[in-house]
Amino acid sequence: MNEKYYLEINDLKKYFPARQNFFGRSRSWLKAVDGVSFRLTRGETMGLVGESGCGKSTLGRLIINLLTPTGGEVLFEKQNIFQFTGEQKKEMRRKMQIIFQDPYGSLNPRMNIGEIIAEPLHIHNLARGNGVHRRVRELLDHVGLNPQHADRYPHEFSGGQRQRIGIARALAVEPELIICDEPVSALDVSIQSQVLNLLKDLQQELGLTYLFIAHGLNVVKHVSTTVGVMYLGKLVEITGGDELYRNPLHPYTKALLSAIPIPDPRLKRERVLLSGDVQSPIDPPPGCRFCARCPAAVEICSREEPILLEYSKGHHVACHLIGGDAR
Ligand code: SF4
Repeated sequence: MNEKYYLEINDLKKYFPARQNFFGRSRSWLKAVDGVSFRLTRGETMGLVGESGCGKSTLGRLIINLLTPTGGEVLFEKQNIFQFTGEQKKEMRRKMQIIFQDPYGSLNPRMNIGEIIAEPLHIHNLARGNGVHRRVRELLDHVGLNPQHADRYPHEFSGGQRQRIGIARALAVEPELIICDEPVSALDVSIQSQVLNLLKDLQQELGLTYLFIAHGLNVVKHVSTTVGVMYLGKLVEITGGDELYRNPLHPYTKALLSAIPIPDPRLKRERVLLSGDVQSPIDPPPGCRFCARCPAAVEICSREEPILLEYSKGHHVACHLIGGDAR
């Protein structure tokens, strides 16, 4: 194990029972996360990108121990979080927080935002009496909200403001790692950049580590130091953010990148349109999971599953055409 890694995900798997036989035993499995491994250093932002249903949100929930894995491990500060009990688990829950796509769904409509932000302070015994009130005002100010609005209710705020409330609540417990699960997908484009800038500023100020889950590569482009691309439960490419945008290797990454609009009308990028249906994650057949939609597929692709291999320093790709058997 390398000393410098803060978070290590090793061969992580989560299978959900899909069909059961007469006796209630599962006959097939939905392989939401199927053998994912990567590492994060402290203060880094990893962008995790893929279409709906690729397993990225399940992966986020596994990492903060909201789900029990089918296999694999998550090492947080070199300790396997799935073996934590009691106080250790509580402390881990303090250090790791999650921000959801729909803040409204995760904010109790019957509590005012002061109470919402104060709740984790009480649970983790981080402030008492007037200290709670003071800390709530501090946090509201920190995320760009008016501290005098602490007695207002979630429905009185806009979508962007509600996301700021979710961020303030996550920050209340002084976390180290935040899983941002599509935090700007439900917001207008103009508001998206404000929330992204806020997250970036907070990272610099507080030394936070982020796992930033998103649909498209455009959202994570300006925030990620590393980007991982997921397809049907597997990582298909992972490398430094700049390298991925400069030199994408996997055909699926190329298709995702081609969908990002270029602001300069003089520059043209060929759009890669994917045909074919996304394969079912229930008992996927052998071979590459992207095979049915891949414009570059060759014979071996439907037979053998490509392994995630290091193509150049720090740039890993799972494709037979990249340094593999069909090259
Ligand atoms: Fe396409 Fe084959 Fe590479 Fe899969 S392994 S991405 S099907 S070329």
